[in-house]
Amino acid sequence: MHDDVHLTEGRVSRVLKERLWPAVHTIAAPVSVDWHELPGEPIPPTEGLALTYEKVEVGTDWGPAWGTTWFRITGTVPAEWAGRRVELVCDLGFDVNKPGFQCEGLVYTPDGEPIKSLNPRNQWVLVASEAVGGEEVELFLEAAANPVLLDYHPFLPTQEGDIRTSSPKKLYTTRRIELAVFEEDVFELCLDLEALHELQVELPEGPRKSHILQAIDDALDRVDLQQIAETAASARSALTGVLEATSHDSAHQIAAIGHAHIDSAWLWPVRETIRKVARTTSSMTELLGEDPDFRYGMSSAQQYAWLKEHRPEVYAKVKAAVAEGRFIPLGGMWVESDTTMPSGESLVRQFLYGQRFFESEFGIRCRGVWLPDSFGYSPALPQLMKRAGFEWFFTQKISWNQVNKFPHHTFEWEGIDGSRILSHFPPMDTYNSRLSGQEVAKASRQFRENRLATGSIAPVGWGDGGGGTTREMAGKARRLRDLEGSAQVSWRHPDDFFSEARAELAEPPVWVGELYLELHRATLTSQHLTKQGNRRCEHLLVEAELWSATAALRGLVDYPYDELDALWQQILLQQFHDILPGTSIAWVHREAAAQYARVAEAATALIERSLTALAGEGTVALRADGRSGAVTAAEPVAAVSVIEQDGAYVLDNGIVQVTVSAEGLITSALDLATGRDAIPAGAEANLLQLHQDFPNMWDAWDVDRFYRNRVTDLREVTSISVTPDGLVIERPISADSSTTQVLSLAPGSRVLDISQSTEWHETEKFLKVAFPLDVKAEQTLAETQFGYHRRPTHTNTSWEAAKFETSMHRWVLASEPGFGVALVNDSTYGFDVTRPSALTTEVRLSLLRAPRFPDPETDQGVQTHRYGLVIGASVAAATEAGAALNTPPRPVSGARSVEPLVTVSGEGLVVSSVKLAADRSGDLVVRVYESLGARTSGELRVSAAYATVSEVSLLEDSITAVTSQDRVVPLRLDAFEIRTLRFHRVEE
Ligand SMILES: [Zn+2]
Repeated sequence: MHDDVHLTEGRVSRVLKERLWPAVHTIAAPVSVDWHELPGEPIPPTEGLALTYEKVEVGTDWGPAWGTTWFRITGTVPAEWAGRRVELVCDLGFDVNKPGFQCEGLVYTPDGEPIKSLNPRNQWVLVASEAVGGEEVELFLEAAANPVLLDYHPFLPTQEGDIRTSSPKKLYTTRRIELAVFEEDVFELCLDLEALHELQVELPEGPRKSHILQAIDDALDRVDLQQIAETAASARSALTGVLEATSHDSAHQIAAIGHAHIDSAWLWPVRETIRKVARTTSSMTELLGEDPDFRYGMSSAQQYAWLKEHRPEVYAKVKAAVAEGRFIPLGGMWVESDTTMPSGESLVRQFLYGQRFFESEFGIRCRGVWLPDSFGYSPALPQLMKRAGFEWFFTQKISWNQVNKFPHHTFEWEGIDGSRILSHFPPMDTYNSRLSGQEVAKASRQFRENRLATGSIAPVGWGDGGGGTTREMAGKARRLRDLEGSAQVSWRHPDDFFSEARAELAEPPVWVGELYLELHRATLTSQHLTKQGNRRCEHLLVEAELWSATAALRGLVDYPYDELDALWQQILLQQFHDILPGTSIAWVHREAAAQYARVAEAATALIERSLTALAGEGTVALRADGRSGAVTAAEPVAAVSVIEQDGAYVLDNGIVQVTVSAEGLITSALDLATGRDAIPAGAEANLLQLHQDFPNMWDAWDVDRFYRNRVTDLREVTSISVTPDGLVIERPISADSSTTQVLSLAPGSRVLDISQSTEWHETEKFLKVAFPLDVKAEQTLAETQFGYHRRPTHTNTSWEAAKFETSMHRWVLASEPGFGVALVNDSTYGFDVTRPSALTTEVRLSLLRAPRFPDPETDQGVQTHRYGLVIGASVAAATEAGAALNTPPRPVSGARSVEPLVTVSGEGLVVSSVKLAADRSGDLVVRVYESLGARTSGELRVSAAYATVSEVSLLEDSITAVTSQDRVVPLRLDAFEIRTLRFHRVEE
């Protein structure tokens, strides 16, 4: 017979788009609309409802960027609508192609109860599920004019990303606000046709595809386009046969979970996220009420805490749905943080504060870590997740790799210490599924474990602030429950999916080491103040806990639980995966810098208060070591003097000798004991290099490989001078930018210290500082949380070649047997490594970038860095130097020295935290880890009375009792193992 697939496909596409979908709300009645426009910051709903409102016509422009417009909508349900479902339909000027990036609204009853959000793909609010006719309607709408920043031509610089620079122009025009009858048959017909049409596109030629096409034609033949509502039921009956055909036994099983991926800040400020959470959760609790099978998952304790504080009425609904097991808290973290840059203690606190919140509010703990969107995953995570009690890990981000395709979807991920955790990447490759035929078929086709396993996860809903799951998606899921030719879709708790995956895969494949994202590599550098603030604050908070615990256990101060919790939570929020990576709008980073300054000041005040209590009032010059917890007499230390010699400058302390050329470049760095020079003959280190840096997309996120091809070596010197602080080198970077470095060497130290201050006024440039090293390093070792990464220096395979920019914490080490050189830093995270020759290694630190999207002024102004060259370094020396640079000793005047509260001995053992327990019992919690990557033993001594000791999880739950004698606990640790001990308070 004659067949034309395209004719049917064209027909169903057009009829759906132009006739059937619009016919869902055809019968309409007008309403009166009044408004009150509020430029600037939002106000609480109670104040919004009490505003004075003025009449406005639909079709009026509204909303300057970031403003809020309150609408009051009143009307009467026509008498003839009795018995029908009536909805308010509201089009605020939405662009349906940009579900998460524009205006949104939240609808309230006159007594202030939020009902449901309005989003580009969700433009209705229920008025009456079965109208009586004649009822009066009064609703309020809080509409947010969030500007579109990621436009059709994406990544263009824009000033709209900060309320201080955005234009007053009105961005949106209301298009439709009216009451309408919801035509259920038409709606269901649309979903039938859409599901079948999308399914047949994915099917091979054959009977099933043909049957569906024929049924679609039959159904469309029955639709009278002038009387759609009246003929929809008949059209649906033509589809019953193909919709009732059930799937085959080996159909892929999709565990769907409602999802919205609400970024805690990104192309909007934190204050807007608070409202996005309220909008989304209002709609999701509404959908849970409408569809008994639906389940919705939301991560981030912080977002629940915002809801509790700002929209308690919605929070009450969420709480009830959580109790039913249908609104599912996910991830167990404070926010969906970056995991590459936060310190080990920060990640522990992400879990600690996250799980404590879920436990106290809902009586549950999350069993899995949910991080769909963070930019790569640290190899320390498996151990941290295990020790925090998690059973599984979920992300999809690695599907964004530029080059290499990740080989597994369900697998065990093994970290640096050997811990393994069951992990899953959805083969659909998205965290914003709408359950399209294409996505569902892709999951089933791409799933890498198809031989042995049967299922995958699908996070379903408009994300990135887009409002979550819609009733259309829920309707799609109903049709795909058991449909011939499709994977089977059911709403599931991810915990259940993982339990089944574990049962199916007796021996899952294993991936060892970091989950490196082959994209967004520049997130290790963009927005330097944000990086610097994070690094400083996380160290200050650990130090504040140490001194506070020491002073509190000696009865000198009350432990500042409330202050420390609030300060930690602020730092944890800013580790969100678009704040710490530097990929948010200017507004977000401006506020982040202010918060870091506030936290640093408050943490410093806590440290000083405890130190004053411990050291007493006095004038003795003391030195407080924030790592050991000891306060000792201070000995004056001056940098070694710089000697001018044959047109060069020499810094020599008897341990190392560094020679700097007249151009300010390091030509030699001798380890005097071995005679080894860290710098290859003829090479120059401390060379600043400026690259052009204009990636193909995602400016703040990406640096593309070709950036290397264009480089300017900054050799020009404005001045070079010897001062008591060290050798001061000033050099221009360009006509607009310049930098000053101070090179100094302390007595007894192997570290050449470099303090740099840069006037940075560049556009789309990348500043690096290069250190060619006379070391034949097969690998570099770079610090991560509680240990280090090993990465090959070669580019034998595409996997290594793709890692042309990688991460570190406080140090990176290049070494060969017998000799090594490390670079330490106080505020950078990115570096690259190359092999200039077979025998040498070049390490470059990434200092500054200047992308123009989403913040057109990224990093402009004065920026400071401190880093150092450790000459003759081992892992232990690098670890020590990195820690010393980030927690320098502080001068204190007092009356007496102070014994440390906790001391540890044993090769490679490092104390990472000394604090009082989060449950405020007064117990002391001490965390140690093995830093060298070797098995070790040692002991931990506590100079305070305690009743018993137990080993506890990262959440401070007791695991086993530990024996101790004379306040000494013997320790035996495996490579990179983390141990947390809890010293129970003596009951008074
Ligand atoms: Zn995200």
